[in-house]
Amino acid sequence: MVKLYERVKIMITKILEKLTNEKSCCKRCLGRAVDPKPDFNEIDYSLRIAEQLPEEILNKSVEPELCDICMGIVEKSIATMEKIIHQLEKREFDSFLVGVKLHNSLQKSDSIWKAYEVIPRYLKVEIAREISLRITERTNKSYQTQLPDITILINAKSTPRFDLQVKSIFILGKYKKLKRGIPQTKWPCTHCKGRGCGECNDSGQQYPYTVEGLVSEPFGRMADTKITSFHGAGREDIDALMLGTGRPFVLELKKPYIRNIDIIKASEEVNRSDKVQITHIQLCEKDIVKKIKAEAPSSFKVYRAKVELLNPANSELIAKLEDLGKNPIPLNQQTPHRVSHRRADKIRNKTIYRVDIISSKENELELRIKAQGGAYIKEFISGDDGRTDPCISSILQNNAICTELDVLEVDDKELF
Ligand SMILES: [Zn+2]
Ligand SMILES: [Zn+2]
Repeated sequence: MVKLYERVKIMITKILEKLTNEKSCCKRCLGRAVDPKPDFNEIDYSLRIAEQLPEEILNKSVEPELCDICMGIVEKSIATMEKIIHQLEKREFDSFLVGVKLHNSLQKSDSIWKAYEVIPRYLKVEIAREISLRITERTNKSYQTQLPDITILINAKSTPRFDLQVKSIFILGKYKKLKRGIPQTKWPCTHCKGRGCGECNDSGQQYPYTVEGLVSEPFGRMADTKITSFHGAGREDIDALMLGTGRPFVLELKKPYIRNIDIIKASEEVNRSDKVQITHIQLCEKDIVKKIKAEAPSSFKVYRAKVELLNPANSELIAKLEDLGKNPIPLNQQTPHRVSHRRADKIRNKTIYRVDIISSKENELELRIKAQGGAYIKEFISGDDGRTDPCISSILQNNAICTELDVLEVDDKELF
């Protein structure tokens, strides 16, 4: 072993001698070449290892900014440390990662080594290592490659810059909407497009309350951020209630200053409202957002619908509906008129799993409808001028209109 080590040492010394005769090279770059993969964490290890080289090489080393290889970029990046620490001190976090982007003029700098058959510790790795070790020393936070709370992105150029990417906090839960006239997500005022005007009392919002606004306010306040996103597992109409077991959602708190928030206390605050209630609150990771948006073809929803009939109901046909409703009804549904301005015009094949008649008066019905996710229920009732077939209107040979639609259950077996 000793023999091998000595041989390697002689070889690298010869190579570095040749290199320093042909190029200007700083101590750090010499150190990067001698030991590219140290298995321990020591700040400025490259400098210390370079000091152990023979004097004839060491004497030829130059100041970092004169180095042909790194042009002093490592020291320049390290010089931004105080600014990085200052930004980090404003935020609560447990883990971090350092990413480095080399400016175009530096991207080929490590290729110099090829001519000398040396594989060094690469410049990017050296910068990330030196910044990370210093952050750990100063903050006591842990370096973590998987889903760190904060990623510090170093843009390594002649005047290095950095940027903090703060991981969002994701909160999974279910909401119930107990009042009509509340949209799910924030809806900018149609007069001022969100800037604020007389029509919206300078709020910039079309509606005074939204599910998103009511849910996100206490959570956002605790995390010290106003930037939030609300991802629902589908959405009900503004005038529909969301009852029963509630609808799954993920609340995303972006760029939070505080991470350790009391989600139970925040949900209790939400639940003081008479408009929205939330349950099943838990922290989750980002991948749940995709899951909540992807509606499985097998998923279902249960609705309560109030239906108005133009002519008095025919009891024979009501009995027929009751009979048909016991079995799945396949549906051909062309994109409804009311959403055609924002949805592609196509025919969807959906299934109504079950229709139960809760009550029937002369011109009024109350139905419980279990349907495949993505089926349009108001149109299944009216028929939408023949665009949905079959429909309650055609079965009852009447003109049926849905006057009230509430969601009783949203299938969430994949989520909770
Ligand atoms: Zn250098
Ligand atoms: Zn406005």
